[in-house]
Amino acid sequence: VLQLTETATWNMRAACRGESASLFMPAIALQSAPGNARRVKHAKRVCAQCPVRRECLDYALRVDEQLGIWGGLDAAERRALRR
Ligand code: SF4
Repeated sequence: VLQLTETATWNMRAACRGESASLFMPAIALQSAPGNARRVKHAKRVCAQCPVRRECLDYALRVDEQLGIWGGLDAAERRALRR
């Protein structure tokens, strides 16, 4: 609940509002499906224009989010950033 309250303060301004959640957090099966690279590219393009990209990425790093695209970075990129 605390995390939801926290994210609610910035996600109202998120560029991904109105986009399909599966664009950023697809089901596992979709992550290896044809078209996944296109999905990732589209999601990152939305993030690139997002005014709360920094807050989103900080949150994902803090809660050690393992899935999806947050702040314009996928899980592997966030792991690399942590190192
Ligand atoms: S950085 Fe990307 S995933 Fe995060 S709130 Fe903005 S558009 Fe959504």
